[in-house]
Amino acid sequence: MESTDSNNRVTIVGGTHGNEWIGAYLVKKFEQIPHLIQREHVEGVTLLANPLALAENRRYIDKDLNRCFRREDLEDLTISSYEENRAKDIAEMLNLGEKSKRDWVIDLHSSTANMGITIIPVNDHPVNLQLAAYLCSINPLIKVYRWHGFEQEQSCLRSLCSWGCAIEVGAVAQGTLDANLFRQTEETVHAILNYLNIINSETIPELDYPLIIYQGIEAIDYPRNEKGEIQAMIHPQLQFQDYHPLHPGAPMFLTFEGETIAYTGDSVVYPVFINEAAYYEKGIAMCLTQKKRYEIRSVRE
Ligand SMILES: [Zn+2]
Repeated sequence: MESTDSNNRVTIVGGTHGNEWIGAYLVKKFEQIPHLIQREHVEGVTLLANPLALAENRRYIDKDLNRCFRREDLEDLTISSYEENRAKDIAEMLNLGEKSKRDWVIDLHSSTANMGITIIPVNDHPVNLQLAAYLCSINPLIKVYRWHGFEQEQSCLRSLCSWGCAIEVGAVAQGTLDANLFRQTEETVHAILNYLNIINSETIPELDYPLIIYQGIEAIDYPRNEKGEIQAMIHPQLQFQDYHPLHPGAPMFLTFEGETIAYTGDSVVYPVFINEAAYYEKGIAMCLTQKKRYEIRSVRE
């Protein structure tokens, strides 16, 4: 790790998607009571990423903000939709000037899929995996998800920072709150701040246990006809079964005529983001993952 002083600032982001209210309202709470996100060795700051979309209770105004952070787009002066401009402002806030002091990000999202509390590390750096392992150790219900090999990762807000994670919570409908998920999200944020306080105060936390990462391998679209219209729904047996094993031959979709469409892969996978409302427009019915086990040790670099 770098010197302890350079990693003390954490930006807690809500409302990257304007209809994901848990993160937005949690950030509003932290704005009102800022001492909640301060620690001796951690300076917490807040950011409401897409205030206009939040006011209109829409995911975005012109374009998904969480796909606007590709480096070349941030430097492209010819693109200027609301979200593209907002992305440039946010990149400046997070990256310019005191760059080294604004390293950590926690980007709060919610999902209509049954994601529970899901941690998505910003990258595979051991520091981020240690944080994820720590969170799983204090709350075994937390899941850790990664998506590799797609340019989407570089276009996310969280890609601006070297350290941190997104938190994806669900199932909760868009534009609504859920008290249990709100409380669990807040507890997870506090656990992260406490952990960063520990590593910033030179105490090396004792960590030596496996970390399970659900590694994204494939996004599955709905069955469609030649006009692109959806021809089947998530099978009832699969609805809300995020992170459960899906075996070859198991029901995946149900057509409007009642015909079951089975999973045709040849190995067990663990689908997530099943029936995510925001992903219909992206042509994603679910993301298939494989369960990978890592040994995480608290070795400072
Ligand atoms: Zn989101």
